[in-house]
Amino acid sequence: MNIADYYGENTFSIRTMRDYLSEETYKSLHETISKRKPLDPCIADEIASAMKTWAQEKGASHYTHWFQPLTDATAEKHDSFISPDGEGGVSLEFSGKELIKGEPDASSFPSGGLRATFEARGYTGWDPTSPAFIIETENGATLCIPSVFCGYHGEALDKKTPLLRSIDALANQIERLAGLFGIEGDKRPYATLGSEQEYFLVDKEFYKTRLDLLQTGRTLFGRSPAKHQQMDDHYFGAIKVRVMNFMQDLDKELWRLGIPAKTRHNEVCPAQFEVAPVFEEINLAVDHNMVSMDVMKRVAEQHGFVCLLHEKPFAGVNGSGKHNNWSVVGPDGKNWLSPGENPRDNAVFLTVITALIAAVDEHSDVLRASVATAGNDHRLGANEAPPAIISIFLGDELSKIILGLDGEDSTDSAEESLKTIEVGVSSLPPLPRDTTDRNRTSPFAFTGNKFEFRAVGSNQSCAGPNVVLNTIVAEALDNISTALEQGVEKGGEFNEILQGILSEMIKEHKRVLFNGDNYTEEWVREAEKRGLPNLKDTPSALKAIVAEKTIAMFEKYKVLTERELASRYEVYREKYEQTIGIEASCASVMAHTMIAPAALEYQGMLSDRIVAAAEADVGDLKEARTVLAEVNKHTESLLKSVRTLDEKIREEAGTRELLENMNELRESADELEALLPDDMWGLPSYAKMMFISNCI
Ligand code: ADP
Ligand code: MG
Repeated sequence: MNIADYYGENTFSIRTMRDYLSEETYKSLHETISKRKPLDPCIADEIASAMKTWAQEKGASHYTHWFQPLTDATAEKHDSFISPDGEGGVSLEFSGKELIKGEPDASSFPSGGLRATFEARGYTGWDPTSPAFIIETENGATLCIPSVFCGYHGEALDKKTPLLRSIDALANQIERLAGLFGIEGDKRPYATLGSEQEYFLVDKEFYKTRLDLLQTGRTLFGRSPAKHQQMDDHYFGAIKVRVMNFMQDLDKELWRLGIPAKTRHNEVCPAQFEVAPVFEEINLAVDHNMVSMDVMKRVAEQHGFVCLLHEKPFAGVNGSGKHNNWSVVGPDGKNWLSPGENPRDNAVFLTVITALIAAVDEHSDVLRASVATAGNDHRLGANEAPPAIISIFLGDELSKIILGLDGEDSTDSAEESLKTIEVGVSSLPPLPRDTTDRNRTSPFAFTGNKFEFRAVGSNQSCAGPNVVLNTIVAEALDNISTALEQGVEKGGEFNEILQGILSEMIKEHKRVLFNGDNYTEEWVREAEKRGLPNLKDTPSALKAIVAEKTIAMFEKYKVLTERELASRYEVYREKYEQTIGIEASCASVMAHTMIAPAALEYQGMLSDRIVAAAEADVGDLKEARTVLAEVNKHTESLLKSVRTLDEKIREEAGTRELLENMNELRESADELEALLPDDMWGLPSYAKMMFISNCI
């Protein structure tokens, strides 16, 4: 079937609405969606009824407010459309009131102390700017209504609420700047997001026998196979048939949901892949990424795979991330991070770039905190993903221009030397697009017409990092506009004032610019000299969430209150500790019940052979004794490590200690894996999981 014929068939999209709503209601809802105007409550009943009709035609018996609690997953509680008619039958109903607000008993969601138990109920509120969609399963279908999730006093208990607030904060500042530049257009400005999603596929049969994958999403044990990613033969390699079948079904399912899946390819590690959509308005794109992750897991299951979204399912090889491609569209409908075609557009472009530089430098700590999770700690700084030091890559050409604003001549050869740009007067030299994203080591890179934040974890919601991005940029733009307004009031010339502001900002924040290799030791030292934070793990990174500066900014732009930030800090800290706690307990169970018994059994088998050989007087099996000694040694250290780990767990030791002990335990286990007979080991090896899953 033609893609265009089924694309979006499972969403109550603008196109679908046109067919199901009266002209008047359609127009009013369209205004709400495109200009983010408040919803007219009078039309809610008609919309609900239309949605119900449409959903029923798609086989839906239930609806749910679909929301995003602070867990990185989505949540849903279903209600059927049935309403008993008093005569033993039912009619199917869905009112505007039910559409607009749901009241799940949500007391078990993490709230970081925001809700006392006596007021535990939160409510969900329809977000009309993200279309409702249908999730189909074998036995039926459910209408999902994208929603916010708040406490009774309006406090945010989810990830969407602050995202919507940050979108507003950014749009307000873009509008203000547009006004100052005299840019016309009646569109509400918005940020755009394209999130590239990496993932692993592992055969379900292997998965089922790996307690660590089942319980923690990553392997806690496992020796590196002889061949993994050294030959670079997987990246962009020909896609194997079994995986291709999965990808084709995945794309189809995503397209049916109106999710614009665009790119698919093999990633660096065997059994690792990527899917990327065409970018969209940021709120929609975040929702779409959340839905995509669910669809990926579901479709994988149908193909006998398990889709692993953990940031580091396998030690020693690449982990998975989510490149967060971000830009802003002004009221003129133009991408403001696209180098301009005339001096005014250039001025806008340079202003936004400068705002980003200032924003990222000023708040790199909270940007780092927004990607701090137990899973992502294995990735950041592990020579495959950007390091934990946040810096910006602009590429040589743009760097020259930006540093030129500060009057600095950054060039080494005279002919390349760029004269200082006169903002609003000069044209920009052409910026080569294709060379700008060659630096894969930078956490925050300008890639031609967008910034790519590469530190986001594959399993994370994009909401958090983008709440931060939107808000810090809003603040920087606010500062620029305020200074511009003051300058103009004093009678200065617009472009000159702007030039002054931008060069001051560059001077202050250029320390965050770095075009070199972010993986090197020199950069770590250089960054320290420049005073850039290097927050290596989640506990140290999360603190930025409750730093005074962070609170002041989020409160000023009405994105998150001090209480909301404190609760988020609590939730994320606790989640981190629980994750490590679960991993430690799982490692202990596996060591006790799987690894040690196998090792001891092999010891017994070897000893029996050696004794039997001696009794039969057929030599002393010298080499076998050496192997036995090795097995004994590693088994003893395994048992010792697991005893220590158990003690630490009982004592409720800190996460760093637990991690250290787990690593120690793992070392002995991985040594044993190399010595034990494959069938006795019991756990499928890395080689099998990476290669058999992906061999045809
Ligand atoms: P790569 O970064 O791998 O070279 P692309 O340039 O195709 O790949 O971009 C990757 C992602 O960036 C895609 O999801 C794409 O839609 C998205 N993207 C492109 N332009 C923008 C933009 N203006 N705003 C946000 N995302 C964008
Ligand atoms: Mg990219």
